[in-house]
Amino acid sequence: MLLTPEQAKVRSLLINIAQGLGNSKRIGRISYKELWRHIHPKTTWSRARTPMIVDLITNISAFELRHKRPPLNVLVTPTNKLYPTESWDDPVKGVRAHLKKLSKIRAPFATYAAAQEACWAYWTKKRKSSVGKTSTKELSAIEGARVDSSATFIKRNRKLVEEAKRRDKFRCRACKFQLSIGSAWIIDCHHKKPLSSSIAEIVTNVRDLICLCPICHRVAHTATPPLSVGAIRRARGIQRK
Ligand SMILES: [Zn+2]
Repeated sequence: MLLTPEQAKVRSLLINIAQGLGNSKRIGRISYKELWRHIHPKTTWSRARTPMIVDLITNISAFELRHKRPPLNVLVTPTNKLYPTESWDDPVKGVRAHLKKLSKIRAPFATYAAAQEACWAYWTKKRKSSVGKTSTKELSAIEGARVDSSATFIKRNRKLVEEAKRRDKFRCRACKFQLSIGSAWIIDCHHKKPLSSSIAEIVTNVRDLICLCPICHRVAHTATPPLSVGAIRRARGIQRK
């Protein structure tokens, strides 16, 4: 079975997201609303559109499973949620059961988190092996940012991340950038110590976390280990206040 042109287009978009590219707000994920706007830029989004998106991405994911690749639908989540809200594992209503019905293949992932990590790992590796013009520095920046944000994916870490953000008053430690849109602060939480091997490593100390704006965060990850606050300022030509 082949993909329709629309499915193929959305599939490439989701692969970009899996590779940490694309212009979704959150690295490695895209919201239903963002995805809708990519597909139908001229029509407005409403929650009633969700089932159409779900149907589209589920069919793409069944196609992926048949080709022994991880299901890309797990990267599409509600805004401010880490995972889709439907059950993954419910034997009747679960997304996994639905995928199996469509593809005849049982996805080898126990949770949404495991399936997401499989997508990121699979597509980042693909990109690395096929990459010509993109520098390794850019790739490590993408991965670094993902490794950092992945720590916030773990509930236990979330409290620490919130604590660090409050401590830093939601302000970038390097450039002092501070911005809130509505009730949301535009600020990242950065691990001073790189989370080396395990993407699921747990941060235990709030002192390891600092607030950085999205730009300084990207700059921090142009090196391994990440640049210090002072080095970020030097790289950006910012005078210390
Ligand atoms: Zn900054």
